[in-house]
Amino acid sequence: MTNLTELGVAALRDGFRAGDFSAREVADAFNANVAAAKALNAFIVETPDHALQAAEQADRDRSEGNLKPLSGVPIGMKDLFATKNVQTTAASHILEGFKPQYESTVSGKLWSAGAGMLGKLNLDQFAMGSSNETSYFGNVISPWRRPNDTAPLAPGGSSGGSSAAIAARLCPAATGTDTGGSIRQPAAFTGISGIKPTYGRCSRWGVVAFASSLDQAGPMANDVRDCAIMLENMAGFDPKDSTSLELAVPNWEAALSADLKGKKIGIPKEYRVDNMPAEIDALWEQGIQWLKDAGAEIVNVSLPHTKYALAAYYIIAPAEASSNLARYDGVRYGLRNLPDGAGLQDMYAATRAAGFGPEVKRRIMIGTYVLSAGFYDAYYTQAQKVRALIARDFERAFEQCDLLLTPTAPSAAFALGEKNADPLEMYLNDVFTVPTSLAGLPAMSVPGGVDAQGLPLGLQIIGRALDEQGVLNAGLAIEERAGFTARAGKWW
Ligand code: GLN
Repeated sequence: MTNLTELGVAALRDGFRAGDFSAREVADAFNANVAAAKALNAFIVETPDHALQAAEQADRDRSEGNLKPLSGVPIGMKDLFATKNVQTTAASHILEGFKPQYESTVSGKLWSAGAGMLGKLNLDQFAMGSSNETSYFGNVISPWRRPNDTAPLAPGGSSGGSSAAIAARLCPAATGTDTGGSIRQPAAFTGISGIKPTYGRCSRWGVVAFASSLDQAGPMANDVRDCAIMLENMAGFDPKDSTSLELAVPNWEAALSADLKGKKIGIPKEYRVDNMPAEIDALWEQGIQWLKDAGAEIVNVSLPHTKYALAAYYIIAPAEASSNLARYDGVRYGLRNLPDGAGLQDMYAATRAAGFGPEVKRRIMIGTYVLSAGFYDAYYTQAQKVRALIARDFERAFEQCDLLLTPTAPSAAFALGEKNADPLEMYLNDVFTVPTSLAGLPAMSVPGGVDAQGLPLGLQIIGRALDEQGVLNAGLAIEERAGFTARAGKWW
């Protein structure tokens, strides 16, 4: 019999429908993989019973001829989505023990579509990070390793539990969130696919807020088709999120096509940054060839304000975070530190000092500083102006082309500990993903190849607002040509 955990979302869905296996068998197989992979630390909470209950329901539904879009498919849920009665922490000590009394819109949609939950996936604390090293629950370890080297590698961040779990076949797909690259960069680091849709496609309701004008949920999975299926079941208008787009959800899967005839692909010259490994340049060239093969025309474009994107992002995101995280005060959620004889202010201070990790504190302090009376115009207002210029750069580029192709990240996965001495080093890893987030555009990472060490490298496709279909189709064209089959050797 097929090894069920080798199958992706489409294959599980279709095999279940065809009666090749039961949903129960699928849930058992993935639950077993999750239980056997503690060394990766990909999950904060395992929920085998949730997966089993959904599977048993799917098996009953099938016998009654009542199939849902994700019947028979168990998934992983990033621990940034509130899940009713299941601990939701954002990987922070301050939310340890918090069991929401409500379900996030996105997770609720997935359960209504028939999916089951294998567990809550580890992440960088409050989704702040690029390596998973800021989690209070310990870092996730990538299933990938360099040859003849047992140094643990970063799975990317912040959705590093999601990326590691998919790459290690602990789940066929997972949710991610992307504020400045947190779906795309971990996907690139682990040889999987992930799409951040247009800002507003997926509801933010019930997603622990980091930077509300940037935060966007999206799927991560083994391939482009699986991402399309997942996204169809995550997206949609939600009156509970005032920035949710009131638009119908397209049938992205049905319209998948790797034929790019008539499409123009822009290559932004500003993404040729200094010190980029030659292999990433070479992969980018290869990607250009693949898209030409698929019928597309290549044009050179310019995004002149790219060099200011990281600076603007690392002002705007902390500013919004400092405001969003003000709600963790020891009164309403999770941790409360009430020293003997303490007053209210002391309780706030003690709770926040003990509850937030160093990266979260750094961002709250930066954010509070750039929003303070004397510095608001010098930093925050300027950053907002730069954000508008970056969005305009993309609008101008999209007068000349339909999609953009770039590398996803300027490096392959780095070793844990390699970049966390200097926060700036870490922030630089987001150089190719942050501009799209500032502009609210859809963007996807697909695996393109491996570096000299055999580690995965990703290519990023960026589209016009609402053109997820164009992004997915170009992703499919690359996927079909890249024939990426590399896998992490099993050591855990
Ligand atoms: N690495 C970026 C940051 O640390 C992006 C994180 C994210 O997209 N959630 O802010």
